[in-house]
Amino acid sequence: MSGIYLDYQSASPVDPRVARFAQRYLTEEFGNPSSLHSAGLRARAALEEARSRVAELINAEDPSSIIFTGSATESNNLAIRGTAIRNAGKGKKVLTSAIEHISVHNPMKELQKGGFEMSMVPVDSSGLVDLGELERMVSPETTVTSIMYANNEIGTIQPANEISDVVHEKGMYLHMDASAAAGRIPVDVQRDGIDLLTLSSNELYGPQGAAALYVKKGVRLQTVNPGGGQERGLRSGTENIFAIAGMGEAARLARGEMDGESARLRSIRDRLIDEILMVEESYLTGDRTRRLPHHASFRFSRIEGESILLTLDAMFDIQVATGSACSSRTLEPSHCLLAIGLKHEEAHGSMVMTLGRYNTEDQVPVIAEAVKKTVGRLRELSPL
Ligand code: PMP
Repeated sequence: MSGIYLDYQSASPVDPRVARFAQRYLTEEFGNPSSLHSAGLRARAALEEARSRVAELINAEDPSSIIFTGSATESNNLAIRGTAIRNAGKGKKVLTSAIEHISVHNPMKELQKGGFEMSMVPVDSSGLVDLGELERMVSPETTVTSIMYANNEIGTIQPANEISDVVHEKGMYLHMDASAAAGRIPVDVQRDGIDLLTLSSNELYGPQGAAALYVKKGVRLQTVNPGGGQERGLRSGTENIFAIAGMGEAARLARGEMDGESARLRSIRDRLIDEILMVEESYLTGDRTRRLPHHASFRFSRIEGESILLTLDAMFDIQVATGSACSSRTLEPSHCLLAIGLKHEEAHGSMVMTLGRYNTEDQVPVIAEAVKKTVGRLRELSPL
């Protein structure tokens, strides 16, 4: 890829080692893991190997607690609707935070149509969940509370362990969406006290088309797409062995390389933040220290994020995001930025840079200069 790609949160390249490892499952080892013949058994072995590698990445107590799905969206749906519906006899309340990804908010809104009550815990100006409010809002009827491990738009890392303590005082299950966090910071489901956890393959430099849901032993969960009964009956459908094997290999590599790579990215990122904040009327969004190591997010007054994105791309071949890729095609301001207290016009000026494997220190001055020129030019044109 030419230019400077700074949108790893939306899509990441597959690690060439992962591609080499998984390719055989496209062309040679194409058996169905449910088949009883030798080709099927080899596919089954690849599936179970991947399960073990993903379990190790998050310190799951047993590989059987990992359920493979097709996307983080699907994992979130299974976690939320699967527990809420299965445990409706105990209560019909579901709880989340105001800054979750829409793949958490929308399944809960769907549940509301079936008589469930959905509530949202507020966050502070840096995106941290208000623990006092969480404590007040969780009740014995709250079957599932879903709070993301770290936010994809503003990079803020939640205090998982404290959230777990509060949720488990009165409520039932804690689900955490760790799509943005896993492979970048240590996620440990046992240490953190998590019942269900979402992971995404592509965020680990694995192929698209695979994701996982960790389900702690004893969690009562039902499927939301019945069929052939694969994945312990929780996620029917023939397994995408290529993508799953790739996810397993990506998880293995991430576990070994995370510390070094995150330290490298944190150092580049910190320099980038310092340089960009020299632009007049620019502000960091999210927390400065409790932040994912690859994540830098800003807002600029009097200009639109979309104009920044398009100008940086067209004039400087630099690719950034304005918020979540999933909602970037609407011109509505991000619900996440509104939840941290920004006004509509402030939320419109957002720019998100997420670094990854192919970013280097020497790109920092180039990026900073391009942002400075872009913002200056757009402000000259701005009627505001
Ligand atoms: N959760 C988070 C935190 C995300 O950033 C995303 C998007 N990458 C998703 C869930 C949904 O992922 P997908 O579109 O791959 O299902």
